[in-house]
Parts: sequence; structure tokens; C-alpha cells
Amino acid sequence: MKHLKISLFIALVAAALLMNASAAAFTAGTYDATAAGRNGDVTLHVTFSDDAITDITTEHEETPGIGLDAIDALIAQTLEAQAVPADTVTGATVSSTAYVTALSDAIAQAGGDPEALVGEAAPAAAEAIEYDTEADLIVIGGGAAGMTAAVTAHDLGIDVILLEKSGVLGGNTPAAANGVNAANAQVQLNDAQYVSVGASVAGLVELQTQNELARENLARAFAENSGEVIDWLSDMGVEFSVDIQEDPRNPVQNYYMLKAEADGSTGITMTRAVQNALNERGITVYTDMDATELTTGPLGVVTGVIATDANGQQVTFTGRAVLIATGGFGHNPELLAEANPKLANATTDEIAPTSGEGLIMARAVGAKAVDLEHIQTFPVVMDGYGMVTPNKLPGGFGVSAVIVNKDAQRFTAEGFEIGDAILAQPDGAAYMLFREDQIAPDMQNIINAGYVASADTAKELGEALGLDGNQLQATVDAYNADVADGTDDAFGKQDPLPLEGKLYGFKYGVGAHYFMGGILIDESCRVLNENEEAITGLYAAGEVTGGFHGSQRIDGSGIGDSFTFGRIAGRSIADTLAE
Ligand SMILES: Cc1cc2nc3c(=O)[nH]c(=O)nc-3n(C[C@H](O)[C@H](O)[C@H](O)COP(=O)(O)OP(=O)(O)OC[C@H]3O[C@@H](n4cnc5c(N)ncnc54)[C@H](O)[C@@H]3O)c2cc1C
Repeated sequence: MKHLKISLFIALVAAALLMNASAAAFTAGTYDATAAGRNGDVTLHVTFSDDAITDITTEHEETPGIGLDAIDALIAQTLEAQAVPADTVTGATVSSTAYVTALSDAIAQAGGDPEALVGEAAPAAAEAIEYDTEADLIVIGGGAAGMTAAVTAHDLGIDVILLEKSGVLGGNTPAAANGVNAANAQVQLNDAQYVSVGASVAGLVELQTQNELARENLARAFAENSGEVIDWLSDMGVEFSVDIQEDPRNPVQNYYMLKAEADGSTGITMTRAVQNALNERGITVYTDMDATELTTGPLGVVTGVIATDANGQQVTFTGRAVLIATGGFGHNPELLAEANPKLANATTDEIAPTSGEGLIMARAVGAKAVDLEHIQTFPVVMDGYGMVTPNKLPGGFGVSAVIVNKDAQRFTAEGFEIGDAILAQPDGAAYMLFREDQIAPDMQNIINAGYVASADTAKELGEALGLDGNQLQATVDAYNADVADGTDDAFGKQDPLPLEGKLYGFKYGVGAHYFMGGILIDESCRVLNENEEAITGLYAAGEVTGGFHGSQRIDGSGIGDSFTFGRIAGRSIADTLAE
């Protein structure tokens, strides 16, 4: 049923795009084209007949759950519509852009006109699409928490519909590059070294509750259930290893960390496993379905969700329980500024379009929110691209770069912890400028993908970046004259390098990265009201919740939170509905 409806939607899109196909004329053959994607090159092999695109195969390293699924969807769309997709897949902009660039190149090589083949956005469907709208459980959000809860509840006999706002599943979870915390997973218990350091449920509770705002009941629920989640994923074929590197800043933590890097990173591997489980079970999933409001019945019992599809069609889903698993709110600047005014100028590195609707919907039905002001930031989030880790930056975090504001003026000694100085700039924007010999090897792909400007002079670079070129030239000249003797008199930067030769630069900001606070839940993932009593029918799990981390997230407990509380939620809902 679900596939029928999705096919109907694709057919409507195709009909809207087909108008260009009849005009197309190609030199038949297969043409290869490459463009830089998020993780490396995206290569397409596009086969043309005299008047049609007949096949597209691809090689790339895009992230499963984000780029990989987006490229698969774009290929299907291109072949059906015989058009260059007009829109990127929500949540996968970098991969979509690489796909469109490579496809356009192949069309041009085949003698076609890529611009004439760009499809128009699909008009609203002539007839309303008929969705399945009733299930035991409606899950809002298709990241780790939502997918884990959906699969868990399904396996306990619960009928589930999952709604995802973006075009792809996975949410922010595949972005998690580090490991995951757990206690007493079988793979840990099998490891003599792990056992010898005394890692245990009690140890993990102690670690989680080091922060005074962290709630003990949630830390305990996490510690007691985290090992079983790892065992569950191991049974699905995920291979975890125990990571016992010692972290001098926190000697306890890394004893608990597990890694699963078969698909590239722990976040990707774990997301892929639970997404496969969701697909294998045929659980009903509606992507591009934006939930906006909860429905309630007598006594405030939550009875369902109102959502809007890609055509603007409003759909009411009803269930005996609703789970909110919508992640953080990095893409909602107003909410960000309200929660923590210091972040009024922040951007975000969240790869999914997480805008806080889950939190807003829950508060509208009386949910209590806690610790909202506690938001972790990431110091370098490049415009259009996202989080840029130190291995990609000149000198690591840009310490060998020159950094200016929108007025093309330096404002601080370039260094490691300058986030507050950037946030204090009028628009929170900074521009990192660096020399060719300072390009870190891992930056090259981002340059190839077109996210970094380059020029032979500071003036031209400034113009390419949308700054006042003359002012930037003056700033760079003054800086170079100042540091000629090896010291930065203006700001006291350590080991300043003159900015000379071919220059590179990009715009960036400080990113809201992880939301410690959110909807208060109990240890069964029931959403609590201001009196800390459960709101009947409403559950929440993952980053949208608060109370577990307190004011500081421990590395590895971000995805740990989402998978573990997702599993707790699935079980808890199944138990309650069985009663
Ligand atoms: C760049 C980056 C790196 C990270 N690295 C790490 C790490 O190394 N280790 C770690 O532990 N954690 C890390 N994290 C944090 C971790 O990835 C997240 O906390 C975790 O994945 C959140 O999972 P979730 O399921 O709660 O939410 P998400 O994965 O964010 O999923 C929420 C989903 O809900 C959907 N949604 C939102 N609103 C609606 C709506 N109204 N209707 C329908 N759907 C909606 C979103 O589109 C999204 O798909 C990182 C986060 C980022 C952004």
C-alpha cells in the first residue's frame, strides 16, 4: 500500500517534469562525469539513447542514510522524469548538488542542454493522496531514536507509522563520527581488559551523573539498557569493538566506548543497521511529512498528529500513542536565541532540518522542558557545507589562518577557542583566509566541491567572499607588515604566518551542535507535565528530550541516548498498549 502511494507521488512528479523530455536529443553512448560530494568524488556513468537517459550508475562514498539514499532517490527521479532534478533532497544538500553537477556535465557531453532539462518543481497533486493514517503508534522523526523505537515496538506486535520531515531517513545520527557509550554489552563482557577496569552499570551511572543537573533515574535507565541495545544491533550483524584508548582528560570514559566502523563511522554503521531493520519489516514510513501539531482528546490524552506533506496536503494521523523523536533545534534561530541568547548569532552543523517542532508541539500540550539553555557548540561550521573538523583546517581549527569579520577586519588572535569572539560579531559570521601551503589534505575535497573561494590577491578574494575587497586588501597588508618580524602586535597571535601567494577563504560561523535540554521524560520515556506527571499517550526519546545529560553531554552518549531511549520507548509503549 505504502509503495503504491509513493509510486503515485513519483508519477505525479514525473508528469510535471516530462515536458522537456520530448525536446531532448543526445549522441547515444555512456558518458562519465564527476563532482565533489560530501565525503569525496561522486562519479556518474550516464547512458543515453538518441532521445532519452536510459541508465545511471554511480560510484561515490557519500554517507549512507544521507547522501547515499539521496543519490539513489535522485537517480530514480531522473530516469522517471527524464529531467535534471530542480530541488535538492532535504537533508542532503551537498550530495544532491554534486549529483546535479555531474548529471549536467554528462548531459552536456552527450550533446544535450542541461539547463533546458531542469525540471520544474512539481505542482500540487490534482487529487489528495490517500495515506494510511491510523496505527497503534505514530512516531515523529526518522533518526536513531525514532527508527529504533519503531522497530522495537513493531517486533512487540505494535502497528507503527513513522513520519519524517526530510526526504531521507537517518536524521543527524549518521554524522556521529565517534563511538557509543554502553555498559555490559556482550562484546564488552567478552573483553578481558574491559572487565579488568571495572566497567559496569554502576560505573556508567556514575559517569553520567557527574553533571549535577543530570537526573539519576534517566542515567540509570540508560546504563541498564545500553548493553542490550548493543547486543540487539550485534544480532543484526553490527560488529562492535571495545575502545580502550585512555583519554587523559577523562580516564573513565573511553573504557566504556564502543565503535562500529564497518560502514565508515559508528553513527553511520548503527543507523544503517536500524534503517535496514525498518525496511525489512515493511514498517510504514512517510518521508517529506512535516508534523506540526499534536491532537488531544478528553483529559488531554494525546491522540495523534497533524502533518503536512510535500504538496502542502494536511494529514491527520491518529494513534493510541505518539512518540516525539525530532532531535534538536539548530535550524530554528528564534528558538535558539530564546533558549540561549548568547547563541543568537549561531549557525548549526545539524545535517537534518531539525527545527524544534517536537519540542514546540509537546509544550503546547503541557509538557515540561528542562535545561534548554545548555547547548554544545562546534567552532567551525562552513556556509553551505557544515561542520569542518580540525583535520580539514589550516593548522587545526584554523590557527594558522587569518580570520576577519563581515567588515573585513581582524577581531581576535586566531586560535583554538575563539567561538565567543565570533558569536560577538554583528552577524556571527567569520571568514577564514589561508595560504595554499596551509591547505590540509582533508580540505581538498571541500575545495573541489566549490565551498571555498580562491584568488591571487586579498582584494579579489574579498570580492569573491562578498566582502569589501579594498578593505580586505588593506587588512591583509597591515597584518603582513605587522607580522613581518614574527610577532602579531595587533592581537598577539602565536607564530603568525604572513598571508601571501594564492589565497583561499570561506565564510563560517559557530554551530549549535548538541541540545542537552528538551522535553522532560521519565525512565519509560513518558513525557512529563509541569507537575512531572505523565501526559497520557505521549512519549519522547533522543536528543529532543532533556534531563539525561544535564548541562554537558559526555562524548559517545549522544547516539547512546538516541538508540537506548529509542529502544526503551518502543518497549514501554508496547507494554502500555498491551495493558
Ligand atoms: C555534526 C554532528 C556530529 C555529531 N557527532 C556525535 C558523536 O561523535 N557522538 C555522539 O554520541 N553524538 C554525536 N552527535 C549527536 C548525535 O548525532 C545526535 O544526538 C543523535 O543522532 C540524535 O538522534 P535523534 O534520533 O534523537 O535525532 P536525529 O538523528 O536528529 O533525528 C531527528 C529526525 O526527526 C526529523 N524531524 C524533525 N522535526 C520533524 C517534524 N516536525 N516532523 C517529522 N520529522 C521531523 C528530522 O528530520 C530528523 O530526521 C553529532 C551531531 C552532529 C550534528
